[in-house]
Amino acid sequence: MSRYVLVGGGVATAATATGLRAAGFAGEIVLVSGEPHLPYERPPLSKEYLAGTFGRGDFQANPDGWAADNDIELVLGTRAQALDPGLRRLSLSDGSTLTYDALVLGTGVRARTLPGFEGDRVHVVRTIADSERLAERLVPGRHLAILGAGFIGCEVAAVAAAKGVRVTVFEPEALPLARVVGPEVGHAMLDVHGEQGVVIRTGELVTGMSETPSGVELRTRDGEVVECDDVLVGVGSVPNTELAVEAGLDVDGGILADEHGRTSAPDVYAVGDVASRLHHGRHVRVEHHDTAVRHGAALARTLLGESEPWTGEHYFWSHQYEHNVQSLGRLGGQTVLRGSLEERSFTVFSLADGRITGMVALNRPRDLLQTRKVLAVPHEVTAAQLADEDFALKGLLPQRPRRSEVRA
Ligand SMILES: Cc1cc2nc3c(=O)[nH]c(=O)nc-3n(C[C@H](O)[C@H](O)[C@H](O)COP(=O)(O)OP(=O)(O)OC[C@H]3O[C@@H](n4cnc5c(N)ncnc54)[C@H](O)[C@@H]3O)c2cc1C
Repeated sequence: MSRYVLVGGGVATAATATGLRAAGFAGEIVLVSGEPHLPYERPPLSKEYLAGTFGRGDFQANPDGWAADNDIELVLGTRAQALDPGLRRLSLSDGSTLTYDALVLGTGVRARTLPGFEGDRVHVVRTIADSERLAERLVPGRHLAILGAGFIGCEVAAVAAAKGVRVTVFEPEALPLARVVGPEVGHAMLDVHGEQGVVIRTGELVTGMSETPSGVELRTRDGEVVECDDVLVGVGSVPNTELAVEAGLDVDGGILADEHGRTSAPDVYAVGDVASRLHHGRHVRVEHHDTAVRHGAALARTLLGESEPWTGEHYFWSHQYEHNVQSLGRLGGQTVLRGSLEERSFTVFSLADGRITGMVALNRPRDLLQTRKVLAVPHEVTAAQLADEDFALKGLLPQRPRRSEVRA
């Protein structure tokens, strides 16, 4: 009987396991995770779970009985330590070894840390444990300093401010989020946070910290000392590629994989955040929940002999206060604004050669739904059409023949 071993306790490996069983795979499935939990979704860690509006059961990838019902062997709280692709053998931190017929690496990323920023009052948010530890510290009146106004920094700022915590965010760039989603959303979210009392100090870098008996002192590049109670380091992530590197797999900023998820080693696959996967002709590594799920589900089909790769568009969202940021496809190049910056309801489209390549939207879920359909078909559009709210995006979709035409 075949044994498929999946490494990682995130949504990517969970989707592979679920997909395999749903399609009738009858062999062994073993899921190894360094965390002591059933595979879970991470987006709520900086949103609903941190805020206390979600309980633990609300963001598991699957319900409690999933593993037993689907005959999936869980090896939790155990790390995969070494991989020998020649012998098809994985060594685990509990001293055991597993041989495999197929191995799926879904080891994700870890939060980037900063040298010199450590101690009880320093936080990152990547795991349930991280989120719980930070949540305990979000007490009204305390002062939280956040290093980095990326998505995690901004989401935590929103939750903390709503809890009555004083929040200061330090961001070396000129705007929050802008590197990923552009200046329009960056400006809008800078204003939104300001209105909620969050101070975002752009163009500022924190260079050092020391703990005092009552808190933390941060030093900025300009020599200013800022006192706070806790520090969140939100400065990006590092892919967990060590296992793959030591096993001799091709790695370049992520585990290199083809459009099916196949790595350079036979019968070893990579999915989710850790995979730098061939997508529309180039290797791309993204850290998006939706992509991780789609990689995982597509890999189940690949393992069962289907040859269709996943070629859909990358999608991610963020939620801060009552505002929704959503992005789809490839951003950059020529951009066109549709909607109203003042009303905080707009979409910025990216265009190339008369085609939409991607979009980012603030509070425009309908634009997203329609663009998703448009991106999937050949279309031609001008900047002027996209900017005109009277121009219906669904007009870019192939028109269904009218009944009379079908009869004829
Ligand atoms: C706080 C937070 C908020 C987010 N919010 C959003 C959002 O709003 N929208 C969005 O699109 N995306 C969001 N993301 C990103 C999204 O959660 C990730 O894209 C997704 O979790 C990737 O899933 P994955 O299965 O690839 O990896 P992960 O979820 O990172 O899982 C990797 C797993 O592998 C385990 N592991 C690593 N090495 C080993 C080893 N050697 N042995 C055994 N186990 C190992 C880890 O412990 C972990 O369980 C957020 C991420 C975080 C952290």
